[in-house]
Amino acid sequence: MPARLSPHFTRAEFEIGSRGGPVPRRSLTEYALGCLCASVLEPLRMELGAPLTISSGYRPSDPGQHGKGEAADLKFSHAPVLRAEAFARLYRWACEGHRIDQLIVYTDSAHLHISHTTRRPNRSMVLVAYPKAGGGYRYESVVPETLRDAGLDG
Ligand SMILES: [Zn+2]
Repeated sequence: MPARLSPHFTRAEFEIGSRGGPVPRRSLTEYALGCLCASVLEPLRMELGAPLTISSGYRPSDPGQHGKGEAADLKFSHAPVLRAEAFARLYRWACEGHRIDQLIVYTDSAHLHISHTTRRPNRSMVLVAYPKAGGGYRYESVVPETLRDAGLDG
């Protein structure tokens, strides 16, 4: 199988980071990663007009979406992701039918968790994660449809 999962993303990019590991060849995981790239990461790269840096992709022992090849954490090198302008842009993008399951903005580290699944309908969830004093995060849900109705997304 090719090392490339899509035009701009390679298997190796998903195998790095803490708890990362080799993607099993010809597996459902590899298929899921290919779908994540094609449906979400390639369009996002095009929207932002800049390469995306994956800080954590596939994590073999993760019981969540990172362990299924359905999620990637991204670092943005070109702009702080939390600027209102950038966030509004991501938001609009998430509303445009890119089949996002979850898009989570981490306010403390300017990284973005993004996922896509083929196992069930994608949820189009946009969340902001705020660090809690004792550790962990508090997640606040933002529903794109609600913002659209309120005229806040444009
Ligand atoms: Zn993540």
